[in-house]
Amino acid sequence: MSFLTGNFFYNGKPLSSAPLWGMSVLESGNMRFRWNETNSVRDNFFSSICAEKRKIAQPELIHSKTVYEVSSADEIFKKKGDGILTSNKFIIPAVTVADCMPIFVYDKNSNAFGVLHSGWKGTGIVKEAFFMLNKKYGSNTDDFCFVLGPHINSCCYSIDKDRAEYFAENFGSECVSFIDGNKYSLSLADANLFLLKKIGIPDGNVFVSKECTCCFKENGAFKYGSFRRQTSSLPQDLPLEEKQKHFTVQTAFVFYSF
Ligand SMILES: [Zn+2]
Repeated sequence: MSFLTGNFFYNGKPLSSAPLWGMSVLESGNMRFRWNETNSVRDNFFSSICAEKRKIAQPELIHSKTVYEVSSADEIFKKKGDGILTSNKFIIPAVTVADCMPIFVYDKNSNAFGVLHSGWKGTGIVKEAFFMLNKKYGSNTDDFCFVLGPHINSCCYSIDKDRAEYFAENFGSECVSFIDGNKYSLSLADANLFLLKKIGIPDGNVFVSKECTCCFKENGAFKYGSFRRQTSSLPQDLPLEEKQKHFTVQTAFVFYSF
């Protein structure tokens, strides 16, 4: 099973002792996750990367800033939220994304790790995760490593003036650019880099993926599922539950390879 994987970076260098981050791609299939549904595509995907005794811990997403820290996978059962952290190496924390940004977290001090789902509504969840580990373990800013994973880049992410103003006000003016009329483009990466800089996370501990989930192609084919791209031809007023049948959700996770 092919999926995307990479390192955390510390001081600009890959951290070999840390867990790895991973993300499924378009051809992996739909990784949709709901507590009251089964998804055999997702089950097969994870069974191919989960060695024995490893358990997935995943909340059902609600576009919030709610983060859980768990020591066993059972603790997340039936929970809804957008972030999951653990320091148990036998757990694989996971979320789903389809244009929203997966933010992978590793804290060198406590060895806690995890992943956050950060869309426009949830922007700021990265701060929640930081303060959670900072408070619990006393981890300092330079203990933290963050990877901002593949997401819809500003090339494809147009927003209206109200949302542009909200972002410029809360996450710095650099994350929005004027296009024309009521149209602006949004960079979720710049918004999160603004927050990480404000907290004081060193640049060398942050890695940003530049691949746009909406338009990036590899060997002539789209690499990722994308809410924007795959629902752009559908009627605007189609309910979200209907739209969800038409786009491919990725799973984003952090794991130890042993
Ligand atoms: Zn793009």
